[in-house]
Amino acid sequence: MKPFDLADRVAIVTGGNGGIGLGMARGLAAAGAKVVVAGRDSAKSAAAAKEIGGIAIDVDVLKESDCRALAAKTVAQLGRLDILVNNAGINIRKQPQEYSLDEWHRVLDSNLTSAFTCSQAAYPEMMKAGGGKVINIGSMMSIFGASFTTPYAASKGGIVQMTRAMACAWAKDNIQVNAVLPGWIDTDLTRRARTDVAGLHERVLARTPAGRWGDPGDFAGIAVFLASSASDFLTGTAIPVDGGYSVQG
Ligand code: NDP
Repeated sequence: MKPFDLADRVAIVTGGNGGIGLGMARGLAAAGAKVVVAGRDSAKSAAAAKEIGGIAIDVDVLKESDCRALAAKTVAQLGRLDILVNNAGINIRKQPQEYSLDEWHRVLDSNLTSAFTCSQAAYPEMMKAGGGKVINIGSMMSIFGASFTTPYAASKGGIVQMTRAMACAWAKDNIQVNAVLPGWIDTDLTRRARTDVAGLHERVLARTPAGRWGDPGDFAGIAVFLASSASDFLTGTAIPVDGGYSVQG
């Protein structure tokens, strides 16, 4: 098998109907995988699935039953499950003292608990397939802090530690678990931030050695690498894809 070939592989991308998730879904499909685009917005998911020759499955990752049904429906429709990208995520930007407990839980549940639940649901199917790849999406907030992002940073720090623990547990099953830490990427999520957080756009440009915001297309390559046999001896890592943001002093 060619190292980056994903022919006959089946992948789920949560939040695959837009932004970074769609960038990854396009990469996986181009490498030969059958991709399930999983999101809440049916029309958006159907359009993305049509574009990449995959299928759409409605899921609200806040619901455990939806996450479990997602794995089951994938196998029912496509025969197997090899790759899970836990990408769905949200942010609520406030100062720490301003969050309600409900907002705290919504961010933690959307970004961290959902990745745990979907991974749990995928595990038995990956075992049946003889192994698998779990790709969790962290953030620069897995490494750094910012005043306006307390639950988000907690969730993304948690993603890295969860990745390490699952990697240790599932290595014996030939399941590799890795995280990707995006820098500042131009998506719906950050378009709001640019309006909400004064001076953010200029700070990102000044701090990013590549001198630009990232684009969802920047995530196609890392998705294929972490989903393919090219990364079979790589597990528990957290790889920044950030134009150098995290190494600039
Ligand atoms: P977008 O807002 O463009 O996409 C978020 C995706 O998550 C949407 O497709 C949305 O689908 C899905 N989603 C959110 N909540 C749920 C839910 N409850 N159930 C199912 N799907 C859900 O954001 P990005 O592409 O920017 O973000 C993708 C990931 O990358 C997130 O985890 C984010 O934290 C992370 N990230 C982004 C960065 C950036 O700069 N953009 C930087 C670092 C990390 P739907 O609309 O159908 O609900």
